[in-house]
This record gives sequence, structure tokens and C-alpha cells, in this order.
Amino acid sequence: MRIGVPKEVKVHEYRVGLVPASAREAVAHGHEVFVQAGAAERMGIGDDDYRRVGAVILPTAEDVFATGELIVKVKEPLAAERAMLRQGQTLFTYLHLAPDPAQAEDLMRSGVTAIAYETVTGARGGLPLLSPMSEVAGRMSIQAGAHCLEMEQGGRGMLLGGSAGVAPANVVVIGGGVSGVNAVRMAVGLEAFVTCIDINIERLYALDQQFGASLNTIFSTRQAIEDYVLQADLVVGAVLVPGAAAPKLITTDLVKAMKRGSVIVDISIDQGGFAETSHPTTHANPSYVAHGVVHYCVANMPGAVARTSTFALNNATLPFVLALADKGTAGALRADPHLLAGLNVYEGKVTHPAVAEALGLTY
Ligand code: NAD
Repeated sequence: MRIGVPKEVKVHEYRVGLVPASAREAVAHGHEVFVQAGAAERMGIGDDDYRRVGAVILPTAEDVFATGELIVKVKEPLAAERAMLRQGQTLFTYLHLAPDPAQAEDLMRSGVTAIAYETVTGARGGLPLLSPMSEVAGRMSIQAGAHCLEMEQGGRGMLLGGSAGVAPANVVVIGGGVSGVNAVRMAVGLEAFVTCIDINIERLYALDQQFGASLNTIFSTRQAIEDYVLQADLVVGAVLVPGAAAPKLITTDLVKAMKRGSVIVDISIDQGGFAETSHPTTHANPSYVAHGVVHYCVANMPGAVARTSTFALNNATLPFVLALADKGTAGALRADPHLLAGLNVYEGKVTHPAVAEALGLTY
């Protein structure tokens, strides 16, 4: 199969659909890989790195879209990219179609078959093509929070790990799922005093087993959240209620009562945020101060560490890319119900029930 890898065009998006090692695997499986010139240049991966593994570099996105039978990307296609999609072609990328009717209409009109990373399911539950990004965001939340605690950012001027004879910072992670456990891991590693609050007792049990005495695990109630947030120097919001907006666990009144210069990192901001005082920010201007508390609310945190994120994403997507190329789209979808769960648009029709419902389409 001919696999096309265009350069991402969204502002400040430097990730790429296939890294050279993934392209090499596809070539070894007997496929042809066509990569747009400069696709991964900003991450220090040059066109020659792709040529060395047998990929072909094409000068423009038009060339890649025209040549590829399977297009592997990272972000949803923008209007100019959608205009290059066609019947008989398969698009494999993050789509986030539900809140984006313009994209859905264009994809339906193009006749393309579109498989969304974010709805592919895993054999052991969960969303395996989303979790690598939650892992990255969770790990990043602690370094972002540590930076925000510095004086210049409006923070209290605290080092997470404290110093000999000086207490460490008090870090409270709310939500102990994929991003939360990774935030906990980084905070524990930096020797902060760490508490994780979750509403799922099984999760708390697993965290307790994993971290032992280095982590304080607490069941989520309004009282517990209030008690711990008031003591916190850094609060990380890592909650998710699948299919719903993030619960507003941190009220404006609670933020007003927090320590001056303390920090909220709201990873859940892409689902509306877990604090009433959160609003989305960008990497260009990631934090702001509200009621004396520094808020970091970047909705696409992994974009800042494009290199790590790209490799983490490729590790998760590659088996599916190879299945699609080896078996053909229809064969791969038929063979794997988890990949089939990722199917959002099939030859002009929206096929995912939740996406169809969100778009007001009959399914
Ligand atoms: P997850 O499902 O693995 O974990 C969520 C956890 O929240 C679960 O353990 C759940 O029990 C817990 N929870 C739910 N309600 C709670 C409550 N009331 N109190 C305490 N805990 C509660 O989810 P995840 O993969 O870690 O993702 C978390 C959020 O981060 C999602 O909104 C996701 O979209 C977002 N995310 C954001 C970025 C970013 O760049 N900002 C990147 C990746 C993921």
C-alpha cells in the first residue's frame, strides 16, 4: 500500500504521523511510504533520515495526498487538507469530529474513510491512542507547575523538593488515572509531598500499592478536596468523566481561599476544566493569575514536547498503521473490533454512534 505522511499545518503543531523508525517497519512490510519534505524538520528529523529507511520525499502536501492510499497524520485535517481527500482513500489521525460539523461535512463529501485515533479502543479497556498523550500531559504538568511556582510567574517562590531543612512543596493531584498517575510519579520523583485524590476506590488501591509511603491517597469528597486544596502549593486537575464535561471540583470561592501564589495546572481543560476559574490558554501565553492563584491551562500540552509526544504516539499507532496497510482498510477493520471502534466516517457516512449523535445525524 502507498502510505502518505504530510507535514502538519496547524499552528505550532510540530508532531508527525510516522517517524523514520515507523516508516522503516512499513517498508519492511512491503509498503511504500511518501513523506512531505520537511515534515519532521522542527524536531530535528531530516528528510535524509526518512530516505535512509527507504521512504520517498515528496515536495508538497498535494503530492502526498494525491499519492497516498492511507494518509497518516496527527491532527484533524484543516479545510485545505480536506479538499485533497478522496473516495477510496483512508485517513488515520486524531479527528475530534463531534464538536466540528464543518469537518464532518467535508469528510462526508470527500468520500474518504476516516479512522479517529481518539475512538480506537483497547483490549484491556481505555483508549490506547489517547493515553500516550495523557501520559505526556501528566508528566509535563509537574514541570509546568514547578515553573509556575517561581516568583517571576506569580508563584509562591517554592521549589517542589524543598531543600535540606526546608519543607518540600505540597502537591495535590486530583484524578489518579493515566495523566494523574504520571503527574504523581514526577512529583514523587522530585521529592514533593504528594497527595492523590480519586473517586474510584480501585484506582486508589492500585496507587497505594504502586507508591507505598511516598504517596498519600485520599477518597474524593467535597470535604477532602477543600481540605487538601487549601493546604496545597500545586494542584493538578487530571479528572475525566468519559463522554462528559469535566466536573467543576474547584469552585471560585475555594480558589479565593487558596494560598496566594499557589498554582493550578488544569490538564482537564480540554474537557472544560476542573476549576471554575480555568479558561484555555496556549503555549504562547500559558498561564495567568486569578484571585492570586497562578493558572496553567494549556489545552494541547503535549505539543510543547513534540519530539517525545511523536515517538509516544507512533509507538501506539504503528501496529494499527501496519494492520491497515497489510490487510487493507476493510480487512483490518473486519479483523479488529478495537480498530473498528475508531471508524468515524466510511465512504461518505458518519459511522460512529456518539459522533453521529453529537452532530445531530441519524445513525
Ligand atoms: P483517565 O480516565 O485515565 O483518569 C481520570 C480519573 O479521574 C479517573 O481515575 C477517575 O476516577 C477520576 N475522577 C473522575 N471524577 C472524579 C472526581 N469527582 N474526583 C476525583 N477523581 C475523579 O483520564 P486521563 O487520560 O488521565 O485524562 C484526564 C483529562 O486530561 C482528560 O480530560 C483528557 O482529555 C485530558 N488531557 C489533556 C491534555 C492537555 O494537553 N491538556 C492532554 C491529554 C489529556
